[in-house]
Amino acid sequence: VERQGEWDVSDSLSELAQLAETAGAEVVGSVWQKRSRPDAAYFIGRGKVQEISLARQELGANIVIFDDELSPAQQRNLEQALGIKVVDRPALILDIFAQRARSHEGKLQVELAQLKYNLPRLGGQGLVLSRLGGGIGTRGPGETKLEVDRRRIRSRINDIEQEIENLKKHRNLHRERRQAARIPTTALIGYTNAGKSTLLNKLTDAGVLAEDKLFATLDPTTRRIKLPGGKEILLTDTVGFIQKLPHQLIAAFRGTLEEVVQADLLLHIIDASHPQYEKQSQAVYQVLRELGADTKPVITVYNKTDKVDNQHIIERMVREPGSISVSALTGVNLDKLLTMIEDSLKSAVADTKLLLP
Ligand code: GDP
Repeated sequence: VERQGEWDVSDSLSELAQLAETAGAEVVGSVWQKRSRPDAAYFIGRGKVQEISLARQELGANIVIFDDELSPAQQRNLEQALGIKVVDRPALILDIFAQRARSHEGKLQVELAQLKYNLPRLGGQGLVLSRLGGGIGTRGPGETKLEVDRRRIRSRINDIEQEIENLKKHRNLHRERRQAARIPTTALIGYTNAGKSTLLNKLTDAGVLAEDKLFATLDPTTRRIKLPGGKEILLTDTVGFIQKLPHQLIAAFRGTLEEVVQADLLLHIIDASHPQYEKQSQAVYQVLRELGADTKPVITVYNKTDKVDNQHIIERMVREPGSISVSALTGVNLDKLLTMIEDSLKSAVADTKLLLP
């Protein structure tokens, strides 16, 4: 279903194919359908279900991935009709985040998002009710397995939320200490796969890794580096932004995104070699606006320029003030980027001083 202002179908589908490969699948084919609204039972039309059923036998596919969120009923009906596993985009993205989460908090947040996604999809029919009346007496032997499962999931959700809340308090404490120590923070943001982690690692090498005891318990993706002028800053990697991010995940990652809201400076990393880089950049700004962080000072970093043959394109990109072209892989222009960070922080700090009494 195409909506105004959204990505066109073929762009979105080729991104879905990339996501599927990232998750470890091999893509053997794709189909799409234009409809005024999704079918309530199957999302797509019955004819299309038939078509996919034939195509999947021909191609030997054992999973079908939909680019939009399916209702639990649609997913079930499709699985029955096609006889294979049916997954939607949110589930695929959750799977990728689950594979990639490294920190304890990150893992908890992904688990939370997955539980919330799975809860309404549990147990197939959704009509299996306890044989004993509602309320009193529903716990214990009279309870169906489905209810036991649901209750376990809810209780796990509560436990995780509690633990995340504690971690958040801890993180706020650290942030307060950092702010008291006046170490400016720079957050790396960007569409998923733009090269944020690569850049973080490269900049850590380029800058001098400072002795880091006070912040030893920070998330491992925050590094303390020394700029050419001798000033120290904290560099924080954030989650990758992506279009149609599952809402369960947005809620779960709000904590991580707080780092963005609190940062003194943002580095917006763009994969300059990607044909859809402009749309990806817009998707990032959309999230920034939602966070209320779109007025922060930003350096736009066009990355992967080693993969761009047409130098005119790069020249056009860096014509905007506050932007720079780099290659996190080969290290081109990273020294200039560090100087730019230094200059931007100077003026950002000067601006803040003006606001102080
Ligand atoms: P993230 O999702 O934004 O953290 O992206 P990663 O840092 O994981 O990078 C995604 C992919 O792009 C990896 O395969 C990197 O090796 C590659 N990559 C990152 N920077 C560059 C670059 O400057 N040039 C090229 N050619 N590849 C890069």
